[in-house]
Amino acid sequence: MFVRVAIPIPSAKTFTYAVPETFVPVAAVGKRVVVPFGRKRMTGWIIEIPAEAACDQTVKEILDLPDPEPLFSSEDLVLYGWISRYYLYPLGMVLAEILPGGTATRPKREKWIGIQAEIPVGIKLTQKQSALVTLLREKGDLPFSGLENRFREAAFLRTLEAKGIVRLREKELFRGPGPAPEIGRNGNDIILNGAQAEALDEIRARLTSGRFSPSLLHGVTGSGKTEVYLRAVDEVLRNGGGAIYLVPEIALTAQLLSRVQSRFPEREIAVIHSGIARSTRYDQWKRIRSGEINLVVGARSALFAPVRNLRLIVVDEEHDPSYKQDDRLRYNARDLALVRGKAAGALVILGSATPGIQTFFRTKGGAYRLLRLPFRVDNRPLPRVEVVDMKTERDEQGRTPLLSRALIAALGETLAQQKQTLLFLNRRGFHTFLFCPDCGHVFTCPSCDLSLTHHAAMGVLKCHHCDFTSKPPTICPTCRGNHVRSQGAGTERVEEEVRKFFPEARIARMDSDTTSRKGETERILRSLDRREIDILVGTQMITKGHDFPDITLVGVLAADASMNIPDFRAAERTFQLLTQVSGRGGLGDQPGRVVIQTFNPNHYAIRRAQQHDYVGFYEDELPLRRELGYPPFSRLIGLHFSSLKKEEGKKAVAEIGKRAREMAGTIAGGKADVIGPAESPLARLRGRYRWQMLLRGKESRPLHLLAEKLMEGAERNGLEIRVDVDPVHFM
Ligand code: ADP
Ligand code: ZN
Repeated sequence: MFVRVAIPIPSAKTFTYAVPETFVPVAAVGKRVVVPFGRKRMTGWIIEIPAEAACDQTVKEILDLPDPEPLFSSEDLVLYGWISRYYLYPLGMVLAEILPGGTATRPKREKWIGIQAEIPVGIKLTQKQSALVTLLREKGDLPFSGLENRFREAAFLRTLEAKGIVRLREKELFRGPGPAPEIGRNGNDIILNGAQAEALDEIRARLTSGRFSPSLLHGVTGSGKTEVYLRAVDEVLRNGGGAIYLVPEIALTAQLLSRVQSRFPEREIAVIHSGIARSTRYDQWKRIRSGEINLVVGARSALFAPVRNLRLIVVDEEHDPSYKQDDRLRYNARDLALVRGKAAGALVILGSATPGIQTFFRTKGGAYRLLRLPFRVDNRPLPRVEVVDMKTERDEQGRTPLLSRALIAALGETLAQQKQTLLFLNRRGFHTFLFCPDCGHVFTCPSCDLSLTHHAAMGVLKCHHCDFTSKPPTICPTCRGNHVRSQGAGTERVEEEVRKFFPEARIARMDSDTTSRKGETERILRSLDRREIDILVGTQMITKGHDFPDITLVGVLAADASMNIPDFRAAERTFQLLTQVSGRGGLGDQPGRVVIQTFNPNHYAIRRAQQHDYVGFYEDELPLRRELGYPPFSRLIGLHFSSLKKEEGKKAVAEIGKRAREMAGTIAGGKADVIGPAESPLARLRGRYRWQMLLRGKESRPLHLLAEKLMEGAERNGLEIRVDVDPVHFM
């Protein structure tokens, strides 16, 4: 017997091994095998058992076969193969990414003791023996860990077993997610409003049809989308189907889990995300595969859960860039939900208050069904949004302050009412752009229309698409003002500044510094829920789905920051961020209020966010995309190169750029544009120099062909290369 094995190495090859006699009865597709590979041992996966090995006698034998059950089926493998081809990532490494326990994780077993159904008559028991028998009669089977020490002696138990009184056995220990922390409310006994009922009717009809059908649930913040998802899940579970429910952030899974658990108290629910221990993931995987668990919630990696009879995939906040994984396998779980839903003939519900431009575009052509929840529940008003023009704000020294007068006043009022405030600092890590605080002018690339990155150390402005470079001017070309400067203030500075004005307020901070500590995000959210925090200052993290009724004020500092990232989706991201963070306010009985600070009060992304007008934003944005040939009017593949050596790397990248342009005409049949290569916004990272290049075209096939060929070239040049297909952003 021979098997075909995928091994996690950076090569598309798979390998044939012989199966020794002892393993022949247990060998199956989907099981792991330990194999000799070169001079090493590696763990791979059986992907095929060929009827006859079309190979010579030199194949080596597998060394071990640890899995009692397969981790995947041949049908699952079809999806994995698709992922490997689409994302240009070797199958073995795709499996290592998706499947639990890259290294063989054996399930933990636990010893149990129970009383025999028929105890032989006429046996005399010691006092200790009869004490244990009584206990087991009362309690039923018990794990050893549940016994008093005096009962746990091996000799004592063996005697009882030999007499035929008890039976000892081993059971697999299930390591589940544990109890969910209680954050937020659960909302049982809700009566759906008209819009919700209509959406649910449509969803029911689609579930009954049993066909793949993607739907977009476009509902404003607080319109009751979650309620609709939960009813759809309920419908599926009651009919014996399985469901996957995705949220974009691990931090949101806790709140979701407690809501889902209180909704389905009798159900076991699996939670999957990258923060879950490997052994737990392995256990859950097995129990999902066996059909014991039918409902999976989690972040992006939960999409791969081997749910039986999958009928429904919910992708909440479908626009969120966190669905995209940005290292190793650079997949987007939102996109893969559609691929998987199609393969399974399942309903996919994409939900958002601010759907991706691409998503909404698809509803126009009828590819996705549009379901709308246009109002907040209970007719609660959307928050009133005030836009502050920071060009007119000056402190005593004549500088632009962090906090405007309007925001300070609103903070004071909110504190006095004992309500809570979110202060959102819109900031994108390393990207600093140059702008004029007098007129709001931002320095952009003449050919790409994207903001230039300011490299203060080198004293240059640079375009990270096409490599255009210029000297940073000191005078603004628009207003002739001489205050040109780069953006940047961290959450710490904001906290300090707020403290200056409101020394009594209880202020907390939530950004990548504070939340990198384990459990910290949940701790902060819980104190916010218990109203131990008056003002929460944070970055992107605080804009997402949390539901706290006592937040009545939302302040947005530097609304422009996300507008000036070098990405064609900058305006879209800004509109989404502003709308989402505004939506955190006024979810309770008190109406919410939002103050947005900006240097560009007339920018359409800001104006449309102020008016809560998604469709208006879409209509402003789409013509620009069409004109510049960006998605949804094209597809993109990003190629990222890195090298330890600057000059050699640069030469090799330039060479690839040249080849790309030649091959665009030949291999891609003129159906691909090459943009770049250019230095990456982070030109040097962990000692490596970095460049990037974009392939753009109407169809994906020619782009894939071209990317594949270019990757081969890169390997020969000693460059490291990663590929990003349909990238959500370039950083
Ligand atoms: P979304 O997901 O759109 O932000 P949710 O489903 O979380 O909205 O609903 C917001 C709040 O309103 C929740 O507390 C929820 O329990 C409640 N809710 C949802 N639907 C209704 C309804 N029909 N009537 C009253 N309250 C509702
Ligand atoms: Zn440019």
